[in-house]
Amino acid sequence: MPHSSAKEDTDAQTSIPHWYDPSSTGVTITDGDGSRVVDDEGTEYLDFVSQLYCVNAGHGNRAIVNAMIEQLERVQYVSSAKRTPARAELSDDLVAVAPDSLSNVMFSVSGSEANELAVTIARDYADAPKVLSRWRSYHGSTYGAGSMTGDPATRGPLEAHASTTGAVKFLPPMTYGSPFDAETPEELAAAAADHLEFVIRNEGPETIAAILTEPIAGTSGAYTAPPGYFERVRDLCDEYEILLIVDEVITGFGRCGDWFGIQTEGVEPDLLTFAKGVTSAYAPLAGVMMRPEIAERVRSGGFDIGQTFGGHPVSCAAGVAALAEYDDGLIENVRATEGAFADRLSALEREHDVVADVRGRGFLHAVEFADPTTGEPFHDPRVDEGHNPVKDVIGEASNRGVLVGGGRPTTQVILAPPLCTTADEIDTAV
Ligand code: PLP
Repeated sequence: MPHSSAKEDTDAQTSIPHWYDPSSTGVTITDGDGSRVVDDEGTEYLDFVSQLYCVNAGHGNRAIVNAMIEQLERVQYVSSAKRTPARAELSDDLVAVAPDSLSNVMFSVSGSEANELAVTIARDYADAPKVLSRWRSYHGSTYGAGSMTGDPATRGPLEAHASTTGAVKFLPPMTYGSPFDAETPEELAAAAADHLEFVIRNEGPETIAAILTEPIAGTSGAYTAPPGYFERVRDLCDEYEILLIVDEVITGFGRCGDWFGIQTEGVEPDLLTFAKGVTSAYAPLAGVMMRPEIAERVRSGGFDIGQTFGGHPVSCAAGVAALAEYDDGLIENVRATEGAFADRLSALEREHDVVADVRGRGFLHAVEFADPTTGEPFHDPRVDEGHNPVKDVIGEASNRGVLVGGGRPTTQVILAPPLCTTADEIDTAV
């Protein structure tokens, strides 16, 4: 990889530009192959953030491209209210790999919309207005999904616009920087679950439709839950008759070593939302999976309004092909390589006294930076102004040919390469 002429990824250092900014000096990506992308000057980068945690099968996957072309040549679009083979096939494939509790799929377009759809369905089914979600979570940028989001960086700009009606936050079981006084993972799981029960009881269980949570906090910092935590959450949901919605927008499709992150926890959700990796980002697609009795309610008079591009046939064709790729060795590659990835990152914590914590699972990891003498982050993550040395790390990684993600809060760097990434590539990137 030629690094000398690589550019600093200034876009990744500031906020991600979701509009075209002609004055931007960041990397302009023109090509991609496997775990690598190439910029307009021919410089190659290891894509250790899968763009936006979504190119799970890697760039330039011929099988997915061919499936999309084939669909385009047959019929490019079929109404989301009608049947078409790609949509049916993808639904069957999703149900086959999802937790056993989930039997039905409703398609949408983006992760934000899928979360809003899941919340709407849950509120209707439970006939209750509130949804509990975690501080340090990201569920999307639209009106409703933004209300559920609880990360300090996104919250600021969204707060004035998001609806707060029915959106209640609780504290997550963070293994680093925890607000709970716990010595062991077991104590942390118990303290965080007790806190959740306190919130449920004080809000009034009959007013709560659902708990919405990522199985592993994605952009908030790759926090895995301590053992036993999700079992307690499931028990609380059963005891107080609250639906459990898992947001698998990042953690789904092999990213964390199983088809879905919640499967590693051995817990069955009532609803599950997905997006990103379902098509490996070859086309936009998202959706909600749900228990049969919830699907029945949707059919028999609940919320059953589709979106024009929900389940677009070309996206569904990409999804069928992407799932086949995950099944055909990619998830296996994550399982075979995740140990080496974690070990390699753990060495950073031992070798560099600015690294305070490394954490994650599968191909989703965070490296947390803090002042070794005080344990304090190098800048105030709520007021993200002035000099932030973590952004220097992101820029310098890009200079050296590795694209990484900036977490929220911006005290950390997130590593989430495509699932086809090899142990050698991990070694180079780390
Ligand atoms: N949920 C999670 C966990 C996410 O990480 C994201 C996006 O990063 C979303 C939802 C929103 O998805 P989208 O950007 O497709 O609306």
